[in-house]
Amino acid sequence: MIIIGFESSCDETGVALACTEKGLLAHALHSQIAMHREYGGVVPELASRDHIRRILPLTRQVLEQAGLGMADINAVAYTAGPGLAGALLVGASVAQSFAWARGLPAIPIHHLEGHLLSPLLADPAPEFPFVALLVSGGHTQLMRVDGVGTYELLGETLDDAAGEAFDKTAKLMGLGYPGGPALSRLAEQGDATAFDLPRPMMHSGDLDFSFSGLKTAVLTRLKALEKETGTLSDRQRADLAAATEAAIVDVLSSKAIKAMKQTGLKRLVVAGGVGANRHLRAHLLKAMARLNGQVFFPPLDLCTDNGAMIAYAGALRIKAGLAVLDGGNHAFTVKPRWDLQDVCVSAASTPA
Ligand code: ATP
Ligand code: MG
Ligand code: FE
Repeated sequence: MIIIGFESSCDETGVALACTEKGLLAHALHSQIAMHREYGGVVPELASRDHIRRILPLTRQVLEQAGLGMADINAVAYTAGPGLAGALLVGASVAQSFAWARGLPAIPIHHLEGHLLSPLLADPAPEFPFVALLVSGGHTQLMRVDGVGTYELLGETLDDAAGEAFDKTAKLMGLGYPGGPALSRLAEQGDATAFDLPRPMMHSGDLDFSFSGLKTAVLTRLKALEKETGTLSDRQRADLAAATEAAIVDVLSSKAIKAMKQTGLKRLVVAGGVGANRHLRAHLLKAMARLNGQVFFPPLDLCTDNGAMIAYAGALRIKAGLAVLDGGNHAFTVKPRWDLQDVCVSAASTPA
């Protein structure tokens, strides 16, 4: 079966084609980063309008890439939540209209399930079961994954997400938007030991995280330095960026390792935008080698939001017999807030 997938939960419009037998066939993406940059963050109304502009040209683009026509498509998958309501409505209405027009089933996908399963697009792909470290702009969670639709939450952030910690500290340092990649680039020239930053909840004994205190610690250091020297030197900025990155990476790695030990699993999968961080990748690769374990990352371009992970999650749900394939009546809702547990096999209710 060939599935077309639509992603529009935030500031990326993604469209992709996946096949239940052959995997990913084609994907196309438009990022709105440049448009939102001047506001220092995502402006929801602008995001929705831009999704409308991009979604059909991207659809034509993937069909062309794969050498397929509309008539070759057998099912439609789309991100139904969580995310920005207006943005989600664009992908959902295009997906449902397309499905209705062609009499196809439409499969609502949980955005985090998309992220979570995206490392399966890597070569080699991990086998189930594994521990997943989901580190995105809005979420930081450790999960035990036994199969498609079988996710057990082991721990999560009590306040800011890891991506948010990167973005907010980068903003404090005047590094522009989005901050994560910018802070990480600057960190490469810095000395992480030049500043002693806290590792919040590193020894809390559980698998939860907290990052808001780290942001405050960076702000305190920044203010002290500015008082001392007026403006920060390039050296100091790079050192502070390196120390921030090291603190975030230390906490993420140590909790991921704790989760491996607690579950006895040997495979770790990292998903979400922060999974693109080079320092985190290197740190986890080393730690897993010591533990005799394996770590898997999504292909770099599929770490942040994309349509490939949604089309692929749709394909995996179909293969696992977890998708309703009767065509339905195409009434739909989007879910700006949506617990991943609601799409688990064991969940009493299935998504609308
Ligand atoms: P969610 O999926 O939780 O709704 P999101 O879709 O906004 O949130 P993603 O697209 O998965 O999140 O990831 C974006 C986040 O990843 C941003 O916070 C960004 O700063 C961060 N990020 C991207 N690349 C890097 C990097 N190289 N180093 C650190 N952080 C990064
Ligand atoms: Mg984004
Ligand atoms: Fe995301």
